[in-house]
Amino acid sequence: MFNDNATAVTLYSIGCRTNQEEVAALRAELLSSGYRIADNVEDADIVVVNTCSVTSHTESKTKRFIQSISRVNPKAKIVATGCFAQQHGESLLKYPGVAWVVGNADKYRIPSIISNSEGGARLSVANPESPVFLGDSVLSPKESGRTRFSLKIQEGCDFRCAYCIVPSLRGPSRSAPKERLVDTFKRAVDMGYKEIVLTGTHIGQYRQHIGGNRTANLESLLEGFLKVNGDYRVRLSSLDPRDLTDAVVAEVGGNPRMCDHLHVSVQSLCADTLSLMDRPCRGLDALMERLRGFRGRYPEAGLGADFIVGHPAETEAMFEEALSRAEAVGFTYGHVFRYSKRIGTKSAKMRGQVGEPVKKARSAAMLAMLEKSREKFLSLLFARPLCIIIESENPVRGVSGNYIKVEVPGADAVRNTWMRVALTGAPSGGYRVANRLEPENITAVSPN
Ligand code: SF4
Repeated sequence: MFNDNATAVTLYSIGCRTNQEEVAALRAELLSSGYRIADNVEDADIVVVNTCSVTSHTESKTKRFIQSISRVNPKAKIVATGCFAQQHGESLLKYPGVAWVVGNADKYRIPSIISNSEGGARLSVANPESPVFLGDSVLSPKESGRTRFSLKIQEGCDFRCAYCIVPSLRGPSRSAPKERLVDTFKRAVDMGYKEIVLTGTHIGQYRQHIGGNRTANLESLLEGFLKVNGDYRVRLSSLDPRDLTDAVVAEVGGNPRMCDHLHVSVQSLCADTLSLMDRPCRGLDALMERLRGFRGRYPEAGLGADFIVGHPAETEAMFEEALSRAEAVGFTYGHVFRYSKRIGTKSAKMRGQVGEPVKKARSAAMLAMLEKSREKFLSLLFARPLCIIIESENPVRGVSGNYIKVEVPGADAVRNTWMRVALTGAPSGGYRVANRLEPENITAVSPN
C-alpha cells in the first residue's frame, strides 16, 4: 500500500496534447492527494506513463520507454495508461515493472487505484456517460513549470475514419460540463497563465446540454471563456474540417483575445482519398474556399494542417492533386504523417497498401511544399511586430499568437510574460530570430 507523503511519483506522456494535458492534471491530483512528484525515474517509487497508439512509431516508442524504466530503476512500479494500455490491456502486466494497467475511461481514478491496490488492470470501455477526465486542481505556472495552460474540454470521437484507431480506444465523444470548464479557465487565468489552449480528441464535437432545448457547442463555450476578465489569450488546438464554421473562422481571425491561429486536421485535400478514408469529400470545394478565405482575410494569421500520405489505394495522381490543392491554400506550416496500419481499422484490410518508399517520397514532397509555403509566410512577416509569450529565459524564447516559435538573442525576459518583437528572418534551429520592440506595457489584447 502506497499512501504516505514519502511516496514519489513521476509522470510521462507520449503522443497528443490531450495526453500531455491529462498528465498535467494527474500530477496536480496526485500532489493534492499527498504524493510527492519526482523529477525522474531514478527518484520515483511509481512511474505513470500515458501511452499512445496512433501510429506504429508511437507504439514502438511506448514499448521501448516502458521497457527502459525497470532497467533504470528496478524497484519502480509502473502505471501504464492511455491508448496503448487500452489496446493491449492485461498483456502489459507481463512487462517488467508494470504493476497497473489503466484504460482511458479509468484514468481519472489513478490516484485512488495506486493508493488502494498493489496492482492489476482496470480497462472499462468508455460509454457516452463516462466522465471526461478533467483534474480539479490547477497548479500555478511556477508549480507546473508550464507557461501555456492546456484545458481539455472534450474526449472521444463519434466519427469512424477508416484509418483511425482512436474512437475504439477513447470511446464516444463526451464533453466536460461548461460551468466547470469556465471555472477552471478562470482559475487558470487568476493563477497567471497568459495563454489557454483548448484541447480534446475532437474539440469541434463539444456539446453540452445546458437546460431546456439549449446545447452548448464550441462557439458558445468560447463565448463563456471570453467573458472572463484578465490578461490572457485563447488558442484552439486542432479542428476537424467539419467544425470549421464561419463563426469559428471570424472569432479566430478577428477577436484580439484569440490567437490568430488555426490548425485543421484535413488529412488530405483530394476527394477520392478522403472518400477512401471515410471522411467527408463532397464539401471539399467549400473547405478550400474557407481555408483560402482565411488566408486572404487574415494574411498574418497562422494556418496549419495535418496530412496523411500513402493511405491504402492512394494513387500518384490522387497524391499530386492533394499536394497542389495544399499548395494553393498557402498553409503556414504542416504536420505530415505517413499512413500507419492500425489493426482493427477498415484501412488495415484495404487492398492497395502503399509501400514505405512511396510513402517516404510523398511525405518528402509534401514537407518540401509546406516549407516553401512557410518561408513565403515568414517573409511576409519580416519586421512586422508580433506579441510573444515568453516560455524560456535562457535563451529567451517564446511563441506568437500566429504560432511562430521565436528566439530573441541578447534580451532579458521573465517566463510567462509578454514581449513585442519583430522577426529578423534568420532561423535558429526550430525558432526564428527576432529583435525586441519597445514599449513594454503590452497585454494579451494590445494590438500585435
Ligand atoms: S475524426 Fe476521424 S481521425 Fe479524428 S479522432 Fe475521429 S475517427 Fe479519428
